[in-house]
Formats: sequence, C-alpha cells, structure tokens
Amino acid sequence: LHKRKDYRDLKFSAAVQAEIARSNNESLMSPRSNAPVVAIVGSLNVDFITRTKRLPEAGETLTAISFDIGFGGKGANQAVACGRLSRRKPKVAASADASTDHSDETVNVRMIGAVGDDSFADDFIRSLQADGIDTTGVVRLPKQKTGIANIIVEDESGENRILLAPNANYARPGEVDLVPDDADVVVFQLEIPLEQVLYNMKKAHAANQYVLLNPAPAQVLPDDAYENIDCLVVNETEAATLSQLSGAEARDIDRVATGLLDRGVRHLVVVTLGAKGVYYISRSNGPAEARGTFISACKAKVVDTTAAGDTFVGASAVFIARAKDRTLDPREGIEFANRAAARTVEKPGAMAAIPWLDEV
Ligand code: ATP
Repeated sequence: LHKRKDYRDLKFSAAVQAEIARSNNESLMSPRSNAPVVAIVGSLNVDFITRTKRLPEAGETLTAISFDIGFGGKGANQAVACGRLSRRKPKVAASADASTDHSDETVNVRMIGAVGDDSFADDFIRSLQADGIDTTGVVRLPKQKTGIANIIVEDESGENRILLAPNANYARPGEVDLVPDDADVVVFQLEIPLEQVLYNMKKAHAANQYVLLNPAPAQVLPDDAYENIDCLVVNETEAATLSQLSGAEARDIDRVATGLLDRGVRHLVVVTLGAKGVYYISRSNGPAEARGTFISACKAKVVDTTAAGDTFVGASAVFIARAKDRTLDPREGIEFANRAAARTVEKPGAMAAIPWLDEV
C-alpha cells in the first residue's frame, strides 16, 4: 500500500492517509488551489547544539552541560516562517493540522533543497510537513549526508562557535533547475552554491516570478545579478559586504541602501538593523534621493535573537505573495515582518521560536 500512488482514492482515515504520505515522502499539505505559492530555495541543516562551561583546550576532553538536536539552515528556517506566518497555530502541535487552514491568508509554501539518505532527513521532512510545508521539492541524495551545523555555546558568555558541514546542500553543483513553475514568489539565500542561486534567480525573473534574495552568509554578487532581484533583504554586515564599503561609509545606511538599489534591484532594498529596527528604500515611491524610510523595532523582551532575520524574510515573502500588486508601497509588509521578528527574539532557539500568524 505504501508504494501505491492511488491511495488517496481508497477509504482510509485522514490519519492513515497522512502516515502513508509521510512514508512516501509526500506532502501532507492539501494546497488551497487558488492560494499564492512561495518557493524557498535553500539549505537544510541539522543543528547539533552543545552547551559547555568553557571551550575545551586542544587535546582536552570536557563534559558538556547539555546537548540538543534541532532543525535549521536558513532555507528551512525561512520556509517554516512562511508556513507559520500564513496560518493560525494548530490546536495540536506537530500534527498535520497545519495543512488544514484554508483561510484567505493561506499561502502554499514549497521547500526546495537537498538532504542526505540518513535518518535525520526523515525527521527533518516530517517536521517541515507539520508546519504545512510542501516538501516534494526536497530531494534525498544517495550516498550523501544531510547538512550539519555543530554549534558550541559557551554558557557564561552566551557566545557560540559554529562549524558547518554543508554536505547535501552543496552536493549538486552546477546549473540545476530548482524553481517550481507555479511559484509566485521565490526566496533565495546563499547557503547553497552561488552559481545555482544566480542561475535560478535569472530563470525565475525571466518567468516573471518575484525574486527575494537574502544574501546570507554575505558574499559579493556579480553586477549582473541585481537586475534579477525584486527585493533584497540584508542585515548590516551583508549590506557592507555587498556594497564593498567599509568604515563610516558602510555605517551610512542610506548611502548603502541607495547604492544597492542603484545597482539594479527592481523594487525594494531592506536593511535590517537588529534591535534598532529596519531601513528600506523602494523604487515605487518616486525619485531615488527621497525614498528611504526608517521603522523602529517593536518592543520585545529579548531572550535569544537567533532566527530573527529568517523570520523577517519569511514574513516579507508571505506578505508579498498575498499582495495583489507586488510593487506597491511596502510599508505595511515591512511592519508585519518587523512585528513577527520581534516575537522570535522573545523565545529561545531558532525554528522553535518562529511565531504563527495569530501570535503576531
Ligand atoms: P539573525 O542572524 O539573528 O537571524 P540578522 O542579523 O539576519 O538576524 P537582524 O538585523 O539582527 O537580522 O534582525 C532582523 C529583524 O529582527 C530586525 O530588523 C527587527 O525587526 C527584529 N529584531 C532583531 N532584534 C530585535 C530586538 N532586540 N527587538 C525587537 N526586534 C528585533
């Protein structure tokens, strides 16, 4: 039965159908047919988080305070943000209920990426599905390992050190077609090979899909990449790297944002400023010189700022996908993303901290 493709026609209970879909690596989401589609093309990493009193010296063995496993990677985090911020929180957590909210706010979210043929991959895919995400675009690569982030947190200082093994995320070099035809908005980051991102951004733009790039971790982009980007979301470090400015020039946010827009970004440049808030500049509001707008961060009781940026990007993508005219004044969407990201910093962890629509 597990291998049968026509099981949906048989008279099984919803729970049995869901279990068969899971074992076939199919999506549990029954998409709302007329809902907009957001595709997130990016990384999936399993986080190994070890807390320690202090870091071990070379050759030393220390006993850790605690160890935890979580799912992450910028791609997966942003997909979860899209999934949750387009639905109300299901009553039973981690159930297929996330797929049953068919309200007008719903967006169909597709994760596009690669995992290995290990058991982490199964759990990862199940966890994404519980957030209502379509995982049919997540391929399991034979003889590969799922991406792993080894995160060591020093308990007293709270400082972390991360050793990333991209594994399956980097196992498909070259120009692979990744963007689904039906996507309205396509979101990219830079945790998969750059050539793959550039190639797929170009294709998405040519197909009239709205392209949102969050260039993290920061890398200089070729000049001809900008014309394929509708919306660029950067933090201050990424803004400085992309604009190749330093010192006082890099701290002049208006200059940095204007410079990035002038390289050819089609609609909008957003610079997230952490606890300070957001600065954005858009092409829709008249001449270049007078368009910059600053929005303060929302008040928040900060516990852990991890995934604030990913929540901001996911919220922005959902808002853009729902907008009838995607080039209109972006203020309302940025305020929504600002509120969503402020909720994330109030909870510990990465994915676990990302809020649902009714929590924003
Ligand atoms: P991360 O890498 O931790 O996910 P980032 O560096 O990509 O984050 P930031 O600029 O630090 O992104 O934060 C993104 C957004 O999150 C901010 O623009 C703001 O909306 C919100 N935010 C971050 N820190 C705070 C805070 N202390 N209080 C309220 N909102 C915050």
